[in-house]
Amino acid sequence: MTELSTMILERIRDVPDYPRPGVVFKDITPLLADPVAMAAVVEELAGTLQADKIVGIEARGFILAAPVAYRAGAGFVPVRKKGKLPAATLEESYDLEYGSATIEVHRDAFAPGDRVLIVDDVLATGGTAKAAVELVERAGGEVAGFAVLMELAFLKGRERLAGVDVRSLVTV
Ligand code: AMP
Repeated sequence: MTELSTMILERIRDVPDYPRPGVVFKDITPLLADPVAMAAVVEELAGTLQADKIVGIEARGFILAAPVAYRAGAGFVPVRKKGKLPAATLEESYDLEYGSATIEVHRDAFAPGDRVLIVDDVLATGGTAKAAVELVERAGGEVAGFAVLMELAFLKGRERLAGVDVRSLVTV
């Protein structure tokens, strides 16, 4: 185990039965509050893959993606829940355990051929990530990869992302 993975694992708190019974929520707030660990994470994510734009997925993805974009000298693009972006959007819906969700990106967020790194905090079933990949591609970006702090391997999200370069800083 590397020093970085130990630092991350020690600062992600398991919250059992949140937001509903049976789910163990991975709370990244202790990590965000630690300036040394946060700087190391941003440094690692910014060095993952070369990109012109860094996409952050609302809401916790924003917290990581914005400093990563700054560090990498890339632009930041928000992918938001439906109804939050003000200009013309593209949308993508995906299934959740109960019901479905829709995310959006601005139609003009990418220049043709922009290399795009998508960043989020946790990869679980991969539904959100897959929808974000499809949005970026439909908006004219080229997905360079998908980077997360933590991958929950038992939920097999990676399998839904065939053909995408998936990088996780820690896997549990
Ligand atoms: P999924 O679409 O199932 O891969 O879920 C990924 C999204 O839901 C990410 O944006 C995560 O922030 C959030 N998420 C899913 N499961 C968890 C969990 N156990 N702990 C924290 N966040 C989670």
